Amino acid sequence: MNKIPFNIPPYVGTELEYVRQAVESHKICGDGPFTKKCDHWMEERFGAPCVLLTTSGTTALEMAALLCGLEKGDEVILPSFTFSSTATSVVLTGATPVFVDIRPDTMNIDENKIEAAITDRTKAIVAVHYAGVSCEMDAIMEIARKHGLKVIEDAAQGVMASYKGRALGTIGDFGCYSFHETKNYSMGEGGALVLRHKEDIEPAEILREKGTDRARFFRGQVDKYTWVEYGSSYLPSDMNAAYLWAQLLEADRINENRLATWHAYNEAFAPLAAQGRFELPVIPEACVHNAHMYYIKLRDLRDRTAFIDYLKRCGVNSVFHYVPLHSSPAGRRFGRFSGEDVYTTRESDRLTRLPLYYGMTKEDRDRVIDAVLSFAREG
Ligand SMILES: *Cc1c(COP(=O)(O)O)cnc(C)c1O
Repeated sequence: MNKIPFNIPPYVGTELEYVRQAVESHKICGDGPFTKKCDHWMEERFGAPCVLLTTSGTTALEMAALLCGLEKGDEVILPSFTFSSTATSVVLTGATPVFVDIRPDTMNIDENKIEAAITDRTKAIVAVHYAGVSCEMDAIMEIARKHGLKVIEDAAQGVMASYKGRALGTIGDFGCYSFHETKNYSMGEGGALVLRHKEDIEPAEILREKGTDRARFFRGQVDKYTWVEYGSSYLPSDMNAAYLWAQLLEADRINENRLATWHAYNEAFAPLAAQGRFELPVIPEACVHNAHMYYIKLRDLRDRTAFIDYLKRCGVNSVFHYVPLHSSPAGRRFGRFSGEDVYTTRESDRLTRLPLYYGMTKEDRDRVIDAVLSFAREG
């Protein structure tokens, strides 16, 4: 019996043709034709003044943190239930991550617990859209406005998802996407930074281009380019952008395919949820999600361990995440938790993810469903 993997990187079939074009045009460094195509496609589709491809979701978050002007002594509010990059980008600037509890329904930061964590050193809030389901952005933007804070959206999982009709990543001051091979659209390693304010475009270009005004030079705005500010290299190769371009052209098809698997899972498990055996993802009315993941919540850690073992015996790879950052070695060293951890640890202990990827066959999907249902029958 073949094993069902947890993830297969998206592949639509035209990637190599575009990569070949990039190679043969001898334009393979950053900001080449395919990078520009991807940037403009996202600007149009998501309604953002500027999108810049980056080398990863992590570096998009780093750019956002640097563009917020974060410094040593500043504090940034974020959930503890997230990937390490959400916090490392803050730590890079010398600022302190301040972790706030999540909501048990969406696993997103609890917007009602943010204000209690604000001090006179707070500079920004990072809203992580877990599983491509939006945080309560109206409430978060209102808190930020009231206290003069920046908002960074960690929309690594939120490409093609929306909140009240607005694309995730375009609501806060900065948005960060990931095109890692585990995400809905991929270029191997890669990401993008979304800018909402025109005045951030030039500083972002300089930061991304090793601190030079090279972008201004190419637009003919200066007659030579030079080192003007701190910067790094956050441009992906155009070969990687060519790979992503193939997938953006098929973005709707990829999205619909993932959603079909998601809904098949959700319908199959609904009776078990009604009986209280499992908890299933909650999608608030304001949110349109992108089927980034399908997760199930078991009773507790023991139940989850038994579930994962059972599925493994059925040839199904189910994985859990995250170890809450505030209880990780680096999280303890660099950050602190504000308020009480009511849900973060408890809910993360019971969550596990089922295989979900573009092109998953109906047979494989049904085998996952059968394994989950037979686990429930047995215990
Ligand atoms: C994947 C992910 C990242 C990091 O993106 P990379 O492209 O892998 O660097 C950051 N935050 C969250 C929530 C993610 O899921």
